[in-house]
Amino acid sequence: MTKVIYPGQTIGIIGGGQLGRMMALAAKEAGFKIAVLEPAMDSPCGQVADIRIVAAYDDEAALEELAEVSDVITYEFENIDYEGLKRLTQIAYVPQGAELVRITQNRVTEKAAIVEAGCPVAPYVVAESYDELVAKIDEIGFPCIVKTARGGYDGKGQQLLKSADDLSLVRALFEHSVCIAEGFVPFEKEISVIVQRNGQGQTYCLPVGENIHVHHILHETIVPARIAETTYEKATEAATKIADSLNLVGTLAVEMFVLESGELVINELAPRPHNSGHYSIEACNISQFGQHIRAVCGWPLRQPRLWAPTISINILGQHVIPLTNSIAKYPDWSVHLYGKAEAKVNRKMGHVTIMTESIDTTLEQIQNAGIWSE
Ligand code: AMP
Repeated sequence: MTKVIYPGQTIGIIGGGQLGRMMALAAKEAGFKIAVLEPAMDSPCGQVADIRIVAAYDDEAALEELAEVSDVITYEFENIDYEGLKRLTQIAYVPQGAELVRITQNRVTEKAAIVEAGCPVAPYVVAESYDELVAKIDEIGFPCIVKTARGGYDGKGQQLLKSADDLSLVRALFEHSVCIAEGFVPFEKEISVIVQRNGQGQTYCLPVGENIHVHHILHETIVPARIAETTYEKATEAATKIADSLNLVGTLAVEMFVLESGELVINELAPRPHNSGHYSIEACNISQFGQHIRAVCGWPLRQPRLWAPTISINILGQHVIPLTNSIAKYPDWSVHLYGKAEAKVNRKMGHVTIMTESIDTTLEQIQNAGIWSE
C-alpha cells in the first residue's frame, strides 16, 4: 500500500555515493531527515545525512537499524545486496520493492524485461561458459560485444570482438559471471530517458538527454537530445512502456542507441537517478532527485519542464584542479563536487551544468576551457 511520508520523517538511503548525496540534498530542502547505510566512513551522502550507519549492505544488524530509524527506504545504487533489500521489504516500508534491483542486477533478466515490455534490444545470446559462447557466437556474428551478466559498469566487464580471432580475449570474463554476447549496434547517438513513477501510477519522463562517452565513461549530456521529434517521442514512449511493465515506483534510467534510421535499440536500465539526469537540478522545474523523493514519499509528481537548453559535463579526478583554477572565469557554470577525498584518475568527482541559449557556442566554450583536454 502506498503511504505518504511527510517532512520531519526520515528517509533511509542504501548507498552513500553522489546519487544518495543529491537525493538527500533534495529531501532536506523539504525538511526530511536522512539516514544512510554505506560501508565507507566518509561518504558523499554520509556527509549530508542526519544518521550514518557504517556497515556492509548485507549486514543484518545494520539493515535492521536502518529499518528502525527510517519511515521509508530507498536506494541509490543497484549493486546493493538483493537478499538484504528483500528482507528489508518485510520489516520496513520500501515502496520500490526489491524486484527491480533483482532484474537490473543481471543483464540476462534485464534484457528479458525490456523484451517483455515490447521494446527492441540488440540481438544477443547468453553463455554460461567460454565453450558455450564459442558454440553460439555464430548466431550473433562479428563485430559483437561480450559483457558479464553481473557487476559491470562504465565499460568494465566487457569486450569488443571484431572477429573470431579475438574470442580468447573474453575467456577471463567468465571467471566472474555468466556472459552475454550482443551484436554491435552501429548507433548514431546514445540517449537516455529518465522515467519516474509513484505508487499511484503517475508517470513522467525528464527531457531526453544525448550522451557522449569518453573511454566508456559518460563525459557530457546535451539536453534536449539533438534527434528528430519522432525519435524523441518514441524514446519517451519506450521508457514509459518499460516503467509500466515493471510496475515502477521511483526512478528508472533507460539508455538507448539511436540508429541512422531514427529507430531505437534499448541498451540498459538503471533503477535509480542517473548521471545523465544531473542537468535537471538547475535546468528543470523538478530535478530527478526531487521527483524521486516525491515518488517514494507518495507525493504527486510534477510534469517536468526544461528551462533552457543545457549541457552537463562530468568532472573526473584529473579535471578537479583545472576546474578549480577556472571557476573565476565562468560565472554561469554550476559547479557540483561530491565531497570525495581522493581525486583518482577517472573517478567521478563532480559535474558542471551550463544552461545556454546556444548549445554550439557552449560546446565551443567547453572545448576552449582546456579542462577536459586529454
Ligand atoms: P554498457 O555498459 O552496456 O552501457 O556499455 C557501455 C558503452 O559501450 C555504451 O554506452 C556504448 O557506447 C558501448 N556499447 C555497449 N553495447 C554496445 C553495442 N551492442 N553496440 C555498440 N556499442 C555498444
